[in-house]
Amino acid sequence: MSQTGRSSALPDAALFEQAACGLLVAETQGTVLRVNATLCNWLGYEANDLVGKRRAQDLFSMGGQVFYQTHCKPLLQMQGSVAEVQLDILHRNGTRIPVLINIVRQTHGEQTFDEFALFIAMDRQSYERELRVARATAEASLEARREAETKLMEINQQLSLADRRKDEFLATLAHELRNPMAPMRNVLEILKLRTSTAATHDWALQVLERQLKQMTHLVDDLMEVSRITQGRIELRRQPIDLAAVLKTAVEDARPMIEASSHRFEVILPHEPIIIDADVTRVTQVLVNLLTNAAKYTPKGGVISLRAERQRDDAVIWIRDSGIGIPKESLSTIFDMFSQLEPALGRSKDGLGIGLALVRGLVELHGGCIEATSDGLGAGSEFIIRLPITSAPLPECNDGPAITSTRRRILIIDDNGDAAETMTMMLDMLGYETRTAFTGASGLQTAADFKPAVILLDIGLPDMNGYDVVSRIRQEAWGTGICVIAATGWGQASDLERARDAGFDHHLTKPIDIDKLQTMLSQL
Ligand code: ADP
Repeated sequence: MSQTGRSSALPDAALFEQAACGLLVAETQGTVLRVNATLCNWLGYEANDLVGKRRAQDLFSMGGQVFYQTHCKPLLQMQGSVAEVQLDILHRNGTRIPVLINIVRQTHGEQTFDEFALFIAMDRQSYERELRVARATAEASLEARREAETKLMEINQQLSLADRRKDEFLATLAHELRNPMAPMRNVLEILKLRTSTAATHDWALQVLERQLKQMTHLVDDLMEVSRITQGRIELRRQPIDLAAVLKTAVEDARPMIEASSHRFEVILPHEPIIIDADVTRVTQVLVNLLTNAAKYTPKGGVISLRAERQRDDAVIWIRDSGIGIPKESLSTIFDMFSQLEPALGRSKDGLGIGLALVRGLVELHGGCIEATSDGLGAGSEFIIRLPITSAPLPECNDGPAITSTRRRILIIDDNGDAAETMTMMLDMLGYETRTAFTGASGLQTAADFKPAVILLDIGLPDMNGYDVVSRIRQEAWGTGICVIAATGWGQASDLERARDAGFDHHLTKPIDIDKLQTMLSQL
């Protein structure tokens, strides 16, 4: 805008007219000399209505005019320019339009002009607002990325810790499984010498039994934990008085506690507290905690078991005067494979999965467990809460006993060693036995031998145990036989299938001879 408003010497008049901002040239007193189409549009005037007829400041609101007089005019006089002032201009119909104005005072030859450039403030404000929003969004995503990176790092650390724990666990597992193997092999060598006396023989059997029990215990724990983590454990719940479960657990744990010369204090609840629980599992939880209490308490300590009702919960406290747990480990102690440094010397036959199993089982019952300790050397306490139930105790009903005058047992198992050792054991216990290694020969032997009981393996080479039992049930001689399934897994679905196929009972391998004997004695 180097020419006056009426000048036609502009290089490109269209550029002036259609500029994206409002442009206006005025005399220093304000008379409009030239105004572009953009500004005319905003104001609702034709250029003719303004040029030579109005002053630039007349186009401002009242406040704008005051501001122009008090600020813009002195500035134009002093420094020849005004930058980015915000005021309102008025549309012909009176509507206010907020604008940002730049004014430059220019002198061309003899004449001095004020050149105005106006921007709609709202556009700029909304642009600035958008900028602010965009910036906030960018900052937020940067922050989110930072957080994600931190989280990733944490997960990474947790994974490496879990990985290290798993490695340590595998090393411990290998070690723990090898431990019982060495004495078992030695015993076998001794027995092979055939020079052993009856006393050596008895001793050898005791060693074998003890070590086998230890291995079975380890493998059982492992299988249980994997079943819990895969959500495959199923509870056989029934309303039961907590005191009954506590008594069983106390009797199971007492030998171990007394072997370490601990004082064992038991306070049973005064009133019946009925919980809806799987008795075996809750006993397992309590025995596990009592065993730990005995294990992690130096000889001659005090171990106590107490239970009472608190509102809708049965609460059980298991306390010991042992080595204690550092405060920082109280929350991780229930994690898989967690074994604490100070306890490692005492853990002996442990794998660091007992407490994970305990927590899993308590939670399956809808309960919770926590550990407390005042620190190393200050003893530990485990507190279990189980919901009580208002369901009545089931009436005692053992069902009709299966009667049999004959004590004949047929063992059908394709594992030759397993079948023969079981047969030998039952022979020695006074039963009359037969052994078969396939389904077909088992059926034949059953037809000839007419046993009272059949101990039947499920996985056989020629047909499975379910088919064998169905075939037995189709025979007239087979309906009264008690058939016991021997399987590796004891899932409810397995049990159901076994029941449907015609089995009377179910035992998990390796078969616990005490359990089998109890079962047989009830027939
Ligand atoms: P473990 O087979 O090692 O006993 P657990 O899962 O039963 O495995 O226990 C995990 C760890 O918790 C133990 O190695 C031991 O460090 C600690 N712990 C468990 N019970 C006690 C207790 N009563 N007193 C002190 N430490 C205990």
